[in-house]
Amino acid sequence: MAEKQYYTTIGLEIHAEVKTKTKMFCACKNDADEERPNVNICPVCMGHPGTLPRPNREAIRQVLRVGSAVGGKLALEFTEFDRKNYFYPDIPKGYQLSQYKYPLVNGGNLNGVELTRVHIEEDTGTSLHEEGDYSLLNYNRAGVPLMELVTEPVITSAKQASDFAKELQLLLRTLGASEANMEKGEMRVEANISISEDPKVFGTKVEVKNLNSFKAVEKAIEYELKRHEALLEKGEKIVQETRGWDENKGSTFSQRQKEDAHDYKYFPDPDIPKLKLGEVLGFSELELKNSLPELPWKKRERFLKLKIKEEQVETLLNRPDIEEVFDKVVSKFSENNNAVIITANYLTTDVVSLKEKGGKIPDAENLAKLMLMTTENKLSSRGTKDILAIMMAEGGDPEKIAEEKKLLQVSDTGAIKEIVLKIIANNPNAVLEYKAGKSASIQFLIGQAMKETKGAANPKMLQEMFVESLK
Ligand SMILES: [Zn+2]
Repeated sequence: MAEKQYYTTIGLEIHAEVKTKTKMFCACKNDADEERPNVNICPVCMGHPGTLPRPNREAIRQVLRVGSAVGGKLALEFTEFDRKNYFYPDIPKGYQLSQYKYPLVNGGNLNGVELTRVHIEEDTGTSLHEEGDYSLLNYNRAGVPLMELVTEPVITSAKQASDFAKELQLLLRTLGASEANMEKGEMRVEANISISEDPKVFGTKVEVKNLNSFKAVEKAIEYELKRHEALLEKGEKIVQETRGWDENKGSTFSQRQKEDAHDYKYFPDPDIPKLKLGEVLGFSELELKNSLPELPWKKRERFLKLKIKEEQVETLLNRPDIEEVFDKVVSKFSENNNAVIITANYLTTDVVSLKEKGGKIPDAENLAKLMLMTTENKLSSRGTKDILAIMMAEGGDPEKIAEEKKLLQVSDTGAIKEIVLKIIANNPNAVLEYKAGKSASIQFLIGQAMKETKGAANPKMLQEMFVESLK
């Protein structure tokens, strides 16, 4: 246990591959699923002498949309590309085209975290280090448009960091700006972490790379915070360095000492003209803003107002297929909040798992019908589940299925009353026990009534009527 109090400061740098047809500065395909190595390459992305890069308008537009969504200042007046110079085999030009002084977006806020900037750059190739003394290089990814988002160092916990990354992934997917699959490397998180006893002075910063899941983000930061604390408690110094995350060991390890930004000797790329984006893009800031879909936080607010559970809201936000049918179904239930809640329950559990097993989401019309039958107690929850499974396997009208399979629940008061009286007459012992104070006996009577109706009676109504009749 730490005796002193430490202040945690975390800043995130998140890279995301932008979804475009072609690469950032050439006409090569941007295809993350291409498995053959080195087929999507050309002299431009290979950095051959004499070739000229041409910025990808769509990639720029997508990053500006992200900027617009987070309320950042868009660089429509002036922007430029810079060379970030360094040698590494996966960067054939000897420099990466990036942005330094004039990023596409300045500022903004996401999930309560202030942003420093969002810029566009090109991705590197990938290297595969083989057993023995050689590596294989694949340049299919070299030159793929890559968005880099940097937060201010204002995050104070591991949970807040992973929540931020989740919200960004949701935003990128909602905008269609990136697939942002972390396990595929389409979204990559780096965390800059420091702790300090003095809230006004930053501690020594350590950067943790290779965080390829939300869990890794959280666990790696937690690990680092503990490591820093332990070092400071012992009176030792924290080394400024870059560390990697070992998923299997659940620990970070030193990779290299951090180079400072000036080591890259950034300078404006002389091959790409300075850009007055407002003039060349053909749309205004307002048009861009108006073209955005409903943003995740607006959706969340709308769903929470429907009084559905928080985790169900998150499922809907992360599953556009489920959300689409949810919106259609509940648009028919404007006055019936109970039906909305029941729809959310079935869609975020049964429908999700049936779809995973190969089922097809039913059309909104039939699904709404089924949800209404359930809300009106015409079906038991078992009955609803059975019908849903049939609808998702072979389609069909829930009313017809319910009739065919004899799943309609008896909710007719007269019919149920008749059964209740019959069961009471046939089970005098249980009735006596109940009247003598053994309240569990009523469950036996309900069970008998369910048996009599082959499970078709509405159990809630049975319960009420037994209580009433046995008074
Ligand atoms: Zn190319």
